[in-house]
Amino acid sequence: MSQKNKIAKNIQELRAEIKEAQLVGVTKYSPVEDVILAYEAGLYDFGENRTSDLKEKAEVFKTQELNKVRWHFIGHLQTNKVRELLQIPRLWAIHSVDSLRLLEELYKRENEFKGSEIKVFLQINTSHEEEKSGFETIDELYPAVDLMLSRKDSKFKLHGLMTMGPIRTEDFEADARKCFKALAHVQKTLAERYHLNDLKLSMGMSQDYSIAMEEGSDYVRIGSKIFK
Ligand SMILES: *Cc1c(COP(=O)(O)O)cnc(C)c1O
Repeated sequence: MSQKNKIAKNIQELRAEIKEAQLVGVTKYSPVEDVILAYEAGLYDFGENRTSDLKEKAEVFKTQELNKVRWHFIGHLQTNKVRELLQIPRLWAIHSVDSLRLLEELYKRENEFKGSEIKVFLQINTSHEEEKSGFETIDELYPAVDLMLSRKDSKFKLHGLMTMGPIRTEDFEADARKCFKALAHVQKTLAERYHLNDLKLSMGMSQDYSIAMEEGSDYVRIGSKIFK
């Protein structure tokens, strides 16, 4: 099967499985040519975890006028890369806002972004693995939510919560499920405390998206299962 047909088939099968959830194609291992094949197959949401790689791909898309694309940043964002990120054309969402300090830096640089709105997911470290970033406790999260809700006129809109399943684990299914349940619990806690009833969940990758779907995921971020 050609690469084009393979990618199209993978997207179609995943979409059938995840129903109304959003599929974000993670392109970090893929050349831009493959990302364009996925675009031609009707997928317009793509995620990258490094600003430099995202910038390169976004510029190719811009040059070729592939204007339906929506870029999602999903990696750990260093404060010194915020400016570069906000200059990326058609940046649609940041899934990985993992500290109050980073959020404050984003507000400070807000005017670098030329579009009208960026959706923000606050990242929670539900597995508590030390190499993962993210808010560790709900008490750590409240000041970030308070700040976002106090900045109603900002381009940054609180859209949801993100987490990743564990990497090192004996029983990845059970442990992934625990992490996804923990994220859904944070969603519920915030809904009660702030009357935020429409917070989305970004959880699930190639290995664990079926479990994430069962636990209520709204955005699955999938790389290898589309592109490999
Ligand atoms: C790489 C990555 C993914 C996708 O991983 P696959 O296993 O290739 O599906 C999803 N989310 C984040 C944050 C990633 O870094």
